[in-house]
Amino acid sequence: MTTAIHWFRRDLRLTDNTALNAALAAHDVVIPVYIVSEWRGEHGWTGAARQEFLCGCLASLAKNLEAKGGRLIIRQGSAEVVLKELARETGAEAIYFNRDPDPFGREMETRVARMGIPTHASQDIALHERTEVMTATGTAYRVFTPYARAWAKLEKVAPGRSVGRISTPPTVPTQPLPTLETWVLPRAAKVVEAGEAAARRRLSRFLDGPVFRYAERRDLPVGEGTSRLSQDLRFGTLSIREVYARVMEAGKSRSGADQRGVDVFVNELMWREFYMQVLWHWPEVLEVEFREEYRGMPWVRDALGLERWRTGETGFPIVDAGMRELAATGYMHNRVRMIVAMFLTKDLHMDWRAGEQWFMQRLVDGEIAANNGGWQWSASTGTDAAPYFRIQNPWSQAKRFDPEGEFTKRWVPELREVPGAKLCEPPAPGVRLARGYPLPMVDHHAERDRALEMYRAAKG
Ligand code: FAD
Repeated sequence: MTTAIHWFRRDLRLTDNTALNAALAAHDVVIPVYIVSEWRGEHGWTGAARQEFLCGCLASLAKNLEAKGGRLIIRQGSAEVVLKELARETGAEAIYFNRDPDPFGREMETRVARMGIPTHASQDIALHERTEVMTATGTAYRVFTPYARAWAKLEKVAPGRSVGRISTPPTVPTQPLPTLETWVLPRAAKVVEAGEAAARRRLSRFLDGPVFRYAERRDLPVGEGTSRLSQDLRFGTLSIREVYARVMEAGKSRSGADQRGVDVFVNELMWREFYMQVLWHWPEVLEVEFREEYRGMPWVRDALGLERWRTGETGFPIVDAGMRELAATGYMHNRVRMIVAMFLTKDLHMDWRAGEQWFMQRLVDGEIAANNGGWQWSASTGTDAAPYFRIQNPWSQAKRFDPEGEFTKRWVPELREVPGAKLCEPPAPGVRLARGYPLPMVDHHAERDRALEMYRAAKG
């Protein structure tokens, strides 16, 4: 009779879980554990919305494990201390887990691997990880398009099986499932339903139709044009292999626009993996600009201005709508993320790191690689980023992607009576769009010129 531990991390599911399946195949008894972090009150890289979603995922996982005859063991502390203690208590001979691509997760894995108990780390989070997609000279790709071409040529692993039975000894002590009180956090947002079943429902809804219109509708912030799977991929309530296989299956007999929807969606999954490999090969992007020429830019420090951006009081309707949606739901549409990020960096000239951190503290899907990639892209400082001279105009972005103001009015009630077209152009100087709504805090054209100067000077 052999015993092993499965250490749940960003893989909170029982279907197609690589490390969990490996543990179950090799051992008679598997102890599934989730280790709750010990910080309290405030954290630089997470916040109430994401922690609430995590709590929901754990509650659902615990229920699913019970249905299979097991128990989710909850412990709090640092990974190496908890896992060592649990191994001693249960006589576990090995620890199984799925690898994490971010530097914090990797450091934890290194510490756990040094404990003297055999560890088995699996690839699970991406279809292609770390060094699988490399240039002909063996270096990592800095540009997305050739990366994507190489990625697409590689064979994909099919989804694995679901857990059949798992029996956890009833004597292993556990702690209560975490709640927001565990971290002394107030409820902050109305987050989407958590857990494996809810994630699979979202996937099915998307594959029932929206995926085939994805190419045309993914940039519109209203109308459910995107999958809304980001938090599920972030916490592993769905496996990326299942998502990929089901999307490919849905597109099998399709052609034309339908097929294009599938292709464009898969392209986004590639961006996810591209940014993971950027972080793997250049972990310094978490500290500095990927492009050396933009390191040490004279970013503006303006606490009041930053607060107006954070709270959605900039006087730019689509920016404010996005920031308020984020506060209310822990989510923001991709197009709007780009608009608010460019606004912070190119109109307010503030350090992208301030936005990166705010997003990490607010987003339910907050994921270090994608978030850093998105921010460095918007600030034109990253690998394959938007060129610095291509500065989005928030007014014309609104005109293109929210011409009736449907999205904006949903999140900025002060503007509900204002005709949509008026939300897509700057008001006359000194004229408010509506009572109680602020004047635009800057003039986009003037700030655009200032940004161009700042980037030109940095390039030398
Ligand atoms: P869909 O359009 O349905 O895309 C499907 C999946 O592909 C997403 O769930 C996501 O996993 C992946 N994906 C899509 N676009 C991107 C992208 N540009 N980069 C990487 N992966 C992508 N995504 C996160 O998951 N976490 C983040 O913290 C995050 N921060 C971002 C910050 C900025 C400034 C920007 C511009 C983008 C950020 N993104 C982030 C990427 C993108 O905005 C979200 O993945 C997307 O909005 C999630 O909605 P969806 O699941 O409906 O996406």
